[in-house]
Amino acid sequence: MPSSNTRVVYFYDPDVGNFHYGPGHPMKPHRLSVTHSLVLNYGLHKSLKVFRPYIATAHDMARFHSEEYIEFLQRVTPQNIQGFTKSLSHFNVGDDCPVFDGLYEFCARYTGASMEGAAKLNNEGCDIAVNWSGGLHHAKKFEASGFCYVNDIVIGILELLKVHPRVLYIDIDIHHGDGVQEAFYLTDRVMTVSFHKYGNYFFPGTGDMYEIGAEVGRYYSVNVPLKEGMDDLSYELVFKPVVKDVIDFYRPTAIVLQCGADSLANDRLGCFNLSIKGHGECVSFVKKFNIPTLVLGGGGYTVRNVARCWTYETSICVDKDLSDELPYNTEYFEYFSPDFSLHPDVNPRSENANSKQYLDSIVESMHTQLKMVQHAPSVQMQDMPGTIYPDDHDHLDDLDPDVRNHEIEEERRTEAENEFYDGDRDQDGPTEDLPAK
Ligand SMILES: [Zn+2]
Repeated sequence: MPSSNTRVVYFYDPDVGNFHYGPGHPMKPHRLSVTHSLVLNYGLHKSLKVFRPYIATAHDMARFHSEEYIEFLQRVTPQNIQGFTKSLSHFNVGDDCPVFDGLYEFCARYTGASMEGAAKLNNEGCDIAVNWSGGLHHAKKFEASGFCYVNDIVIGILELLKVHPRVLYIDIDIHHGDGVQEAFYLTDRVMTVSFHKYGNYFFPGTGDMYEIGAEVGRYYSVNVPLKEGMDDLSYELVFKPVVKDVIDFYRPTAIVLQCGADSLANDRLGCFNLSIKGHGECVSFVKKFNIPTLVLGGGGYTVRNVARCWTYETSICVDKDLSDELPYNTEYFEYFSPDFSLHPDVNPRSENANSKQYLDSIVESMHTQLKMVQHAPSVQMQDMPGTIYPDDHDHLDDLDPDVRNHEIEEERRTEAENEFYDGDRDQDGPTEDLPAK
């Protein structure tokens, strides 16, 4: 395969995989460490620029969330939780979204990576930015939801909107991307497109195809409700024509792709039957449009398959073929027993409840909705608001090498050029945090 011209940056915080939601909780940040180990042991880091990401501040998070909510996340700990009984229910924190040690730190890390990815796309520092720790699409302005506390996607899109007139959000998590849809429901600057299981009270319960946006945002929310058992062929049958229509009609200048891996077969919480290749085909298809793209993680609750999926999708971003045999030197090799393969066989747990007729009818309805977008004058006539950098001096402008904090960026670049984590001793050294503002 010819070497790729696509410039891909990849964010990895060595601490992010060490957070725990608590015993028995299906969301396991450890999946990020397992993914990263496969990425390194396949040698994919040689085709990427690896960065330790920026850590978001409370001020950054409050660009979308309420200050009271962020302040609560900053203050609450498993030790002082008794003092917050009222706030817990007010902010929907407790069962699905537990208070755990380092909760706020965790949010600051995955959010910072999405912000910096967006900033690098904005200043044309890359074509694709990858943050597998991000993609927490359920978080709302005033509350946590579905294992998500801070919506790094919304905050990343807000960063992209400084430069990009139209941002397309595509969500292939099995759950509806409700938090992102809600945030941009009234605007045509962002089109949200979510493919998800819908019906029978499947979480979060929204995402009917009649949710199309409102006011100026009417027709700019696209929902593709699916039934259980979606396989590769069925998914392709809807994903490709809908995404092609969306891009043709909307003409986005940047894309955010949420790659939730709970749409894979045999997920602990999901009920689709996608193979890793079938899931990756979505990334491959979007990449072919050559539009600056922020690639994010999301759900995914069978750790070994999440790691396989996001490693494979990293390889798609950099146009590298990977051997089907997993690298034996990954420290998590035993997780992949008994096949030790990147592409294990899919054993469907449920019948595909989506008939060809049903899928065709969805594609048809979406086409009708998207034709309305074509005629929306604001899309046709909108000029580029930010070809020149916006003048507001908030923190991310500090990442510009021409302004202050020059050294911080330099330090990170050095780390990336040394291909950090290439040696086996790297894990032992102390990890120092970048100064956060
Ligand atoms: Zn999900």
